[in-house]
Amino acid sequence: MSHSSVERAGLLAGVQMRLLPSDDAFALRGSTLASALTKDIELGLVPFCVIVTLGTTSTCAFDNLQEIGEVCQEYPDLWIHVDAAYAGSSFVCEEFRGPMKGVHMADSFNFNPHKWLLVNFDCSTMWVRKSEEIVDAFRVDPIYTRRQHRADPNAPNYRHWQLPLSRRFRALKLWFVMRMYGRDGLQRHIRKEVALAAVFEALVLQDSRFETVCPAVLGLVCFRVKAARDMNALHKRLVQRINKDGDIHLVASEVRGVHFLRVAVGSRFTEPEDMVFAWQAIERATSALLADEE
Ligand SMILES: *Cc1c(COP(=O)(O)O)cnc(C)c1O
Repeated sequence: MSHSSVERAGLLAGVQMRLLPSDDAFALRGSTLASALTKDIELGLVPFCVIVTLGTTSTCAFDNLQEIGEVCQEYPDLWIHVDAAYAGSSFVCEEFRGPMKGVHMADSFNFNPHKWLLVNFDCSTMWVRKSEEIVDAFRVDPIYTRRQHRADPNAPNYRHWQLPLSRRFRALKLWFVMRMYGRDGLQRHIRKEVALAAVFEALVLQDSRFETVCPAVLGLVCFRVKAARDMNALHKRLVQRINKDGDIHLVASEVRGVHFLRVAVGSRFTEPEDMVFAWQAIERATSALLADEE
């Protein structure tokens, strides 16, 4: 999960959390987890949950699920949750499923079709290996909820899967999208937008003033102005300028103290000319800013 989501979950659950360092590609590796587990156990702590992110918010990095799963085989009580909030949509395409390797060892897996699979906010889907464990944790059966109106008594009762008892019928809008697009249509949508990100990345790399922070991943391009003094301050002013110009709106990010800009393709209406339009807005603002600063 993004740090903020994990931290909030830990706060609500009232448990200790350990944020583990990632490797040069921003991925959590099995060996890092293994030594953190050993250390925690030595301290008398009881590790019970590992959260693996497939597609981080900042740079769309993938933790190494296969390695993490293998480490966790030695700790059968350790719950592995996979947060694929954004990148999960791309797994409708076989060619993007590489990072899912090891998913058979996970206990739960979540992604948000509202981010990149054409479903309106909000719609998050979760798979769990043993639903009884969720139900056992949440179940309370006061007399007034015991009445059964269900056609199929064997169908899961989702009231027992979450904190609130009532819930909206979100599955319906997901069902409509799946029926309208079909597997092929959803795959075409993802592939088109991954290709558009590559178009944008090429525009960035064509300009010698810029570099990418990491190669474009799925629909996301992370980039910045090359070596300059006070890089972070410069990027802050650049983002402000781009957003003030008002042609496009960018949300910047930061990894390990380095600021950068991000463009993510996510709309079915985006076309190559939109990538050019966005790039030209960035180029204009950069030229103006650099001229001002000389
Ligand atoms: C967007 C995102 C989230 C937040 O998802 P919500 O369903 O809005 O809580 C969590 N983790 C990652 C990796 C994300 O990209």
